[in-house]
Amino acid sequence: MIPAVYFDGCSSRATPVSLWREEGTLRWRTPERSHEWSAPLDSVEPSARVAGVPFVLRLADGGHLQVDHDLLPADWFPRHHRLEQLVDWLERRWIAALVGVVVVVASLLGLFEYGLPWAADRIAAHMPQALETSMGKQSLAALEGRILLPTRLGPDRQSHLQSVFWHFVNGVPGLPAVRLRFYLAPAIGANAFALPDGTIVFTDALARAVPDDQAFIAVIAHELGHQAGHHMMRQVLRSSGVFIVAGMLMGDVTSLGGMSASIPVFLVDSHYTRRFEQDADDFAFRALASQGIDPVAFVHAMQALEKAHPELQGAKGLRYISSHPLDEERIARANAASRAFRAAQGGSGVAGAGDAGATQE
Ligand SMILES: [Zn+2]
Repeated sequence: MIPAVYFDGCSSRATPVSLWREEGTLRWRTPERSHEWSAPLDSVEPSARVAGVPFVLRLADGGHLQVDHDLLPADWFPRHHRLEQLVDWLERRWIAALVGVVVVVASLLGLFEYGLPWAADRIAAHMPQALETSMGKQSLAALEGRILLPTRLGPDRQSHLQSVFWHFVNGVPGLPAVRLRFYLAPAIGANAFALPDGTIVFTDALARAVPDDQAFIAVIAHELGHQAGHHMMRQVLRSSGVFIVAGMLMGDVTSLGGMSASIPVFLVDSHYTRRFEQDADDFAFRALASQGIDPVAFVHAMQALEKAHPELQGAKGLRYISSHPLDEERIARANAASRAFRAAQGGSGVAGAGDAGATQE
């Protein structure tokens, strides 16, 4: 039994009482036992447990009891008074806030991992041809005289490779407008790449390193795959960051200048994603097969390049090979395409045209 003060809710009179609990019932009476009251424990709403403030038990009929803070047994209102409810609520809020933070971080990661490439691909797919052409020309202009110097290939060699190129390109349906340009480019070694305006840049070192026309056209076919998939544009858009993508979504085309500048950076520092390389391979396998060349020619060309040119080995020498590593998966896919090609050829003599250059091992 603990001392308390009772207010009946009708008058402001304070009645000193003794307070006790019997099971689920709260009981209190005057010291002289002239009056006694009771209320179900679960109908009583306790106030917050705040140090130094009398504890208030609100009754359903509007009255209330004041109890000295330290005297109220803790087990009378376990987890029920408001402060503990508040703590409960805060705890739930805190977990909710944590969940919120996790969701936001995951969304941002998702945006950068999937949303940005998605947006970049959408933009690349809907980019006006004129814009891609102008970006390609800008970046070529930025490269010429610095990384790309005038070719030193003889005119006969150039015109021969150009005619091989055009003979092949004219047989491949669905290509965007393309052209082939040779450059002396010591900074990027034996290399080839496709610019957004359709230009395929082929360095002198790579033109000298390819063992034959089949190897040359296999590299071209792979680059045409990058060209057909707009890979350079997509890669540059992806790596240009969310601000440029956002700017372009909102129609701010001034950020394109910065993007053109990032193409040379891409050439020196970066490489295509594995997915783009696979797409370019698949395109090359189809294009080569359609011209009667065994699709494994690209892999054979790369292997031939590696073996035949030890002087080009090193950081910059065979840049093209270092950016197109021949891993097992790639070779397996080339072999699968090759088997399909040979099965389709059905042993007819046409396959020989591809095998001649493709099987130098
Ligand atoms: Zn590639």
